[in-house]
Amino acid sequence: MTLEKVIPTKEFSIIETYFKNKTLTRDDVELGIGDDAALLRLPSAQLLVLSTDTLIKGVHFPENTAAYDIGYKALAVNLSDLAAMGALPAWFSLALTLPLADTSWLQDFTQGLFNLAKEFNVQLVGGDTTRGALSITIQALGWVPPHQALRRSGAKVGDKIYVSGTMGDAGLGLQVALGKMTLSSKDNQLVLNRLNQPFPKVKLGMLLRTFATSAIDLSDGLYADLNHILTQSQVGAEINTDNLPLSVTLKKYLSPQDAKIYALTAGDDYELCFTIPLAKEIEFLQMIQTAQMNCTCIGEVKSEPGIQLTGFIGSLPTQGYQHF
Ligand code: ADP
Ligand code: MG
Repeated sequence: MTLEKVIPTKEFSIIETYFKNKTLTRDDVELGIGDDAALLRLPSAQLLVLSTDTLIKGVHFPENTAAYDIGYKALAVNLSDLAAMGALPAWFSLALTLPLADTSWLQDFTQGLFNLAKEFNVQLVGGDTTRGALSITIQALGWVPPHQALRRSGAKVGDKIYVSGTMGDAGLGLQVALGKMTLSSKDNQLVLNRLNQPFPKVKLGMLLRTFATSAIDLSDGLYADLNHILTQSQVGAEINTDNLPLSVTLKKYLSPQDAKIYALTAGDDYELCFTIPLAKEIEFLQMIQTAQMNCTCIGEVKSEPGIQLTGFIGSLPTQGYQHF
């Protein structure tokens, strides 16, 4: 306990009311919220996969973001990290710092949080509740069979580079959220949805276990995130910018050049970027067709370091979000 804590009785009633009593329960949770730590049963011969992400007001979401969206996104970004490892999510913890115990805010926050938790059958098993500037830290846990985790370090020269979904829509959503752009009300909603409620690509990540040589989820922008794969795999890439998957909405409001810039540098897409060896490409394409998933080949892994962009003249304004 520290002085910054909310009043104990209130703290415990917050935990009881908004967290303990709202989470779904799983058979593999021997002990959840209420003790000094949780006790979790990991299936035998599986590797525990653990990821932590923090959301801070003004940094990770604009000041005016709805509590529902904050709750949803805090969990979504963590599940997206597990997806990028090819893991199956099972549990999560929540460290919540609140400026005040606002019941209607908590109500909406937990609704967003638990709506997504339900989609993936993940249980809240513990956390911490403190008083201070609004910040949300979630730790998501899951598992993956040994040797099947998708790492950033496995890309090989000649592998094809793929992305799921479309790129840049969340970036457009951020402009709308900040009041810097206005689209039609339908399109406003669409891009705000991409920004505030990204759907973690857990199913795709698991399907990629036996296909992809590397994977990453797109949080900081394709250019920056692909670079992490390339650096860790000690390779380079050629990206054909004409093949970047762009939504109808993005193309409607941005020039072809700006649309490419958004797709390459805007963050918050939470799609997956991954590499597929040539020998497995046909089987991979059949698999995603059967699973009705939308993935696009945007380039190829090369031996020369760095990213070569084709179909693009000019320079990129930023190369992804940098905290420091
Ligand atoms: P301790 O002082 O031992 O850290 P706490 O008073 O912080 O215990 O928490 C009591 C119980 O409530 C613990 O089981 C903890 O995991 C859980 N808990 C606290 N805050 C949250 C939260 N925001 N979400 C879920 N569980 C929480
Ligand atoms: Mg505690």
